[in-house]
Amino acid sequence: ENNLLQVKDLHVSFSTYNGEVKAVRGVSFDVRKGETVAVVGESGCGKSVTSQSIMRLIPRPPGVFKKGEILFNGKDLTKLREQEMEKIRGKEIAMIFQDPMTSLNPTMTVGRQIMEGLIKHQHLSKDKAKVRALEMLRLVGIPSPESRINQYPHQFSGGMRQRAMIAIALACAPKLLIADEPTTALDVTIQAQILDLMNELKEKLNTSIILITHDLGVVAETADRVVVMYAGKVIESGTVEEIFYHPRHPYTWGLMGSMPRLDQTREQELNPITGTPPDLLSPPKGCPFAARCKHAMKICTQEMPETTVVGRDGFHQVACWLEHPMAPAVEPPAEVVG
Ligand code: SF4
Ligand code: MG
Repeated sequence: ENNLLQVKDLHVSFSTYNGEVKAVRGVSFDVRKGETVAVVGESGCGKSVTSQSIMRLIPRPPGVFKKGEILFNGKDLTKLREQEMEKIRGKEIAMIFQDPMTSLNPTMTVGRQIMEGLIKHQHLSKDKAKVRALEMLRLVGIPSPESRINQYPHQFSGGMRQRAMIAIALACAPKLLIADEPTTALDVTIQAQILDLMNELKEKLNTSIILITHDLGVVAETADRVVVMYAGKVIESGTVEEIFYHPRHPYTWGLMGSMPRLDQTREQELNPITGTPPDLLSPPKGCPFAARCKHAMKICTQEMPETTVVGRDGFHQVACWLEHPMAPAVEPPAEVVG
């Protein structure tokens, strides 16, 4: 069994005054040992809710776990008692966020924050934890760790804070790291350094990574596989090569077409997908992309297309009526396939 994580038919809603917002509607995907899976899509597509569900960080209420399984090393996380989940969180599954200040404790030195997990989860002595904390600071590329270890988060620059957060997350060598827009707030140079760092750590520690992002450049740099989400559903998934070079879903075509390319002029670059995603208070019963899709057919608004395996490697899956044998042949737009 090479799968570290299997998310199966996950449904998560939020109760609001207006009714039930069905944020995640039957999401399934796997993460194998040592691989990076990017989850991409516009804001509100359910990618953050999915990752927070894996960590069981959705506040209930207003969050409601409707159904599904989240198998981590074969154990269903949705069925664990909070006490058991606490042992997994931070130790076996760690998370980093876009804004390090939301997860760093401003009143505690960075060193103490790295040491805490080591003392709590790995039962290290204070001295041993400190040695390990220094190692981690060095590993994430923080200069002069001996003096930095006693500093507070506000004494770190934005990029350094991000590194500190990664050091905390990885100190206990988690099997799975969930990174939600980890570089969005950083400038391009530091962003590249953090991504290199994550790739390096993945190699060194064999950590699996779920990378939540809307930045396809970041995906190309780091991911092995891509899961494309739209309106609370996975509409396409596959290897980076398949998704970037042979995308099959019209929404993915739109995403790829909106990616800036070196050979394009500024004017051609702007190729957003017009329209907005459906209201998840009352999601459409057919394909959620139908209202924005150039290729929508009658069936698209009537019935949700099934997920079909396409391509040759067996991993590429797409949920679109165009894959139906009776559908008309539609070619991806030229700007997508080059
Ligand atoms: Fe477009 Fe229909 Fe495919 Fe949805 S199912 S993406 S509406 S062609
Ligand atoms: Mg988000």
